[in-house]
Amino acid sequence: MSIIGKLRPSKNSLPCEIDSLGVHAKLRYDLDAIGLASTDYGNIVHEIPSAVLYPTSIDDIIELIKFSNECPLPFNVAARGHGHSVRGQAMAHDGVVVNMLSLKKHYKNGNGIRVSTSGNYADVGGEQLWIDVLNATLEHGLAPLSWTDYLYLTVGGTLSNAGFSGQTFLYGPQISNVLELDVITGKGDFMTCSKDQNSELFYAVLGGLGLFGIITRARIVLAKAPKRVKWVRMIYSDFSIFTRDQEHLISTKGLEYLEGSLLMDYTPANNWRSSFFSPSNESQIISLLKKHGILYCLDMVKYYDDETANSVDKDVQMLQEGLNFIPGFTFMRDETYVDFLNRVRRGEITLKSKGLWDVPNPWLNLLVPKSRILDFNAGVFVDIIHRQKKTTGPLLVFPLTKIVWDDKMSAVIPDEDIFYSVGLLHSGSFNDWQDLDNQNNEILEFCDRAGIKMKQYLPHYKSKEEWIKHFGPKWNTFQERRAQFDPRMILSPGQNIFNYV
Ligand code: FAD
Repeated sequence: MSIIGKLRPSKNSLPCEIDSLGVHAKLRYDLDAIGLASTDYGNIVHEIPSAVLYPTSIDDIIELIKFSNECPLPFNVAARGHGHSVRGQAMAHDGVVVNMLSLKKHYKNGNGIRVSTSGNYADVGGEQLWIDVLNATLEHGLAPLSWTDYLYLTVGGTLSNAGFSGQTFLYGPQISNVLELDVITGKGDFMTCSKDQNSELFYAVLGGLGLFGIITRARIVLAKAPKRVKWVRMIYSDFSIFTRDQEHLISTKGLEYLEGSLLMDYTPANNWRSSFFSPSNESQIISLLKKHGILYCLDMVKYYDDETANSVDKDVQMLQEGLNFIPGFTFMRDETYVDFLNRVRRGEITLKSKGLWDVPNPWLNLLVPKSRILDFNAGVFVDIIHRQKKTTGPLLVFPLTKIVWDDKMSAVIPDEDIFYSVGLLHSGSFNDWQDLDNQNNEILEFCDRAGIKMKQYLPHYKSKEEWIKHFGPKWNTFQERRAQFDPRMILSPGQNIFNYV
């Protein structure tokens, strides 16, 4: 469904002096630019900006933000990375959206990704996609350590949240793998920051939902890249055994990746996010699903290269020792490192070819404390999701460890050493997504009633009280940092945080 017909961008909501700025020729008011800036992956929220900036340099963004600060009534500015938010977080109602990808085309030398000669890090533009970071660093035999499941997201977009995947229990989220940032603050100041330099800004921006500044460069930690992976999936019917094995594995040396997901008897064993099973495996799984209703998949990955190719199978066997998956229900794939990291792209291409990618995606992502994950399984996976049989999207559940997160950063996690990432990646149609969203609300209400102190990841709330509860003890610092770096509350209005304060 296109929203183009509904667009009525109003240039009038911007001060007319904007036409005298150097950047004015790079502002677009046409329906293509406005249409893109008022749509995201979620396809649920549509906020129409007055204009979209297509910057060709960082100075363009600085000029725009400084100008807004000088206006008696400043206008909002939102950086749009790849627009893969699900609730309009990168939109700016009546403001200006900065199309960050436009910067990619304007690097004089190279592509905005520079690998250091020491090989320990890469300097990467905030507008760069992680897939391009992977390809550029691999040319040097190197790669970042921490990933997201899907690589067509920008560096600025994931660092504004956290950026995590199956490597996170070991290496920390992407925000824990950044050495230095260049940031344009909400005042329009260009600042370099790190743990030792302008540290308050550094910690604010990482997981800061875009509210303190626009990231224009991140220095990302690199390490030697493996060549291939052994990707093993084991099936469980008992959730407590499944989580016990997950927790055991993340405390074991030698594993590089661990995730988990659910299979339900009313959905196919393969889905767009993971087409792991061969057709014969799939029929085995379907008969098992008929018996159990719900199955749990534990995915673990061991990296290897030429030197370790002979020992990798033995290493995998050792990792599996003592695990209690259903006997015989273990499956293995051997893939290149790149194909493994880029696995979700295959699903995207399939969905796009069927017209099923650009549909409403009312996702709910939660971080659930380990102490309550069994209650969550009983109350949510079994009693809401499986009983109602509404969602057909991927359902992910895997543990993360608090020790690899830095509490000074803005990102919010539960207060337990181990907590679970739960991803309810629903996709619906334009007619029924509201049903799925009602189910999300039911899940949130269940957690509230049961006293499960979970946190939303990629959070979206409607009231000040909910945001205060979300940030908990971090709320005061969050407010103070906002006052320091964006006192006129210009940036990232789509997060709907300070609009209610
Ligand atoms: P946008 O949606 O464009 O922006 C998100 C927010 O960041 C907005 O508030 C925006 O203003 C701000 N922002 C954008 N660029 C900058 C910048 N340069 N500086 C400051 N602020 C900025 N997340 C995970 O952690 N792990 C996953 O495995 C994962 N998988 C995903 C798979 C898919 C298919 C999708 C759609 C999302 C997934 N996500 C995952 C969520 C994703 O990390 C976030 O939605 C992320 O914000 C998307 O990046 P983007 O470039 O599209 O950001």
